[in-house]
Amino acid sequence: MGGKTAVDIPEGKNLVGAFHQPAAFIADVSFNATLPARQRRAALGEVVKMAVLGDERLLELVEEEGAAFARGDSRPIESGAVAEMVERCVWAKVEVVTADAREANLRMILNLGHTIGHGIEAAAGYKAILHGEAVAYGLRGAFAIARALGITTADRAQRVNTLLDRLGLAVARPQVSLDSVGQHMATDKKHSFGRLSWVLPTETGVVIRSDVPPEAVAQGLAAALRMAEAGVR
Ligand SMILES: [Zn+2]
Repeated sequence: MGGKTAVDIPEGKNLVGAFHQPAAFIADVSFNATLPARQRRAALGEVVKMAVLGDERLLELVEEEGAAFARGDSRPIESGAVAEMVERCVWAKVEVVTADAREANLRMILNLGHTIGHGIEAAAGYKAILHGEAVAYGLRGAFAIARALGITTADRAQRVNTLLDRLGLAVARPQVSLDSVGQHMATDKKHSFGRLSWVLPTETGVVIRSDVPPEAVAQGLAAALRMAEAGVR
């Protein structure tokens, strides 16, 4: 979706690719019922990300129906809640990609949670941790950085972290080392003038910052890797 067609190479994900806009998007949400529980849960990592970009209704939907969907309850599929979640995610992406044609790099906001997320995924060798799971870790990290910089509120951060807890996402310490994640982040492609550009949550949406000090990044990584909870210093 979003026109990006890319492949993963050993140096990282999506590094080789092309852009081609789709003419239509068709989703059969009943297909979700056939997915393993872990895949359904992981998919919600990206849904939470889309909600945090600024869709309050989507955030409420995931708060109300996400846990049941992750459990494999058919009710959110039958009620249309999952269809609405998918539709809202697709439209949000279409809006970003369309606006991106006018305002260069707007699509970068879709990278929320992905800077640390890709680092964790790469550190885990793209096997042990699913993409959506990695994004959930990255979201926790992005909120910790945003808190350190004072650009989001404690309430907003707590709301999203509580939601991730309830969805069972990014709850345990991932089996990756801090150094390895940091190294993979440094080789991630989203750089501007040698510094990482971060998509960080505000109270209602996101901002892009390329002036995040190393101490704030360290706090974000520690939060993403659940180091305090694991008693690691
Ligand atoms: Zn993603």
